[in-house]
Amino acid sequence: MREFEKNIRKVEPYVPGEQPGEKVIKLNTNENPYPPAPGVRTALETMDTERLRLYPDPSAEALVRELSRFYKVDPSQVFVGVGSDDVLSMCFLTFFNSEKPILFPDITYSFYKVWAELYRIPYECPKLDENFRLVKEDYYRENGGVIFPNPNAPTALYEELSTVEDIIAHNRDVIVIIDEAYVDFAGPSAMELLDKYDNLLVVQTFSKARSMAGMRIGYAVGSPTLIKYLNDAKFSFNSYTMNQTSLICGVEAVKDQAYFEANLRKIIDTRQWAKGELQKLGFQFTDSKANFIFATHPDYDARELFEAMKEAGIYVRFWGSRRIEQYLRITVGTREEMETMFAFLRKYMKK
Ligand SMILES: *Cc1c(COP(=O)(O)O)cnc(C)c1O
Repeated sequence: MREFEKNIRKVEPYVPGEQPGEKVIKLNTNENPYPPAPGVRTALETMDTERLRLYPDPSAEALVRELSRFYKVDPSQVFVGVGSDDVLSMCFLTFFNSEKPILFPDITYSFYKVWAELYRIPYECPKLDENFRLVKEDYYRENGGVIFPNPNAPTALYEELSTVEDIIAHNRDVIVIIDEAYVDFAGPSAMELLDKYDNLLVVQTFSKARSMAGMRIGYAVGSPTLIKYLNDAKFSFNSYTMNQTSLICGVEAVKDQAYFEANLRKIIDTRQWAKGELQKLGFQFTDSKANFIFATHPDYDARELFEAMKEAGIYVRFWGSRRIEQYLRITVGTREEMETMFAFLRKYMKK
């Protein structure tokens, strides 16, 4: 080993789902199967490329303003970043600076552990119960901060706001971050609790419900104080995180509430129908409130099924990690994509 090696920050990176090039049925990274709002296309087609000469607005004001209108909060309560991964990473850096461990569930978004390791933040992972439910009492202990997704990934389970509030109320001395990447497919957002709790930060994304994973837009909503701390950290890191194109398209996506709601409705309907089809094939799954289904089959090994599906050009997500080694995470695609998957499964299972 070379001497310089010992001073290099070494990390085990997050492994994103595959992005296959050929034509496959892609149900492995929870993207939305429908295009973004039509206004996004118009904005791109009519964009003044001359504007790209200049740096974008470092405060992303137009998008912040549109989001603040949508959520009926003050613009000083909104922070935007390059996808919620960027926002969350900035949150870890800004808010999790205690000697005490931060808390997040043992089965959750695997990026949390990567950021904790990257920033040298101590962490502990309370176990979800045997039904993959959050055990709220596990979050009463002393800690340096709390983060969990609601609905959780990859379990797809949504915790009622009363459970979320209980955890926030028991942690008034630290920052509690609720990662709501999938909340639009589920139920009420923790944003409802913002007036009551100044230690709460809610993070959302354009990648799932708004069909814009490729655009990279995420945001946090919280008290003006927390948002200021986030902006201070961001401006100490990179002032121009949001590019001009994303800023313009983001505004258009938020403006079209009718399209947004119709898009959600289609996915929720397909999800409910797909649950029925999976059940007919003997799958077991959690009560998904997200745009994916977390499923296992008593008679088929998850890894073998995953490989067979991939061979057939149907990509789903499989981890093989502890407690979830027999589970597949299947993104809800279009009705047609799901039909193709079920046709394959019926053939594979000879049903
Ligand atoms: C998809 C996802 C994210 C990241 O989304 P981006 O905005 O695309 O970075 C964050 N948290 C959870 C739980 C997710 O599933």
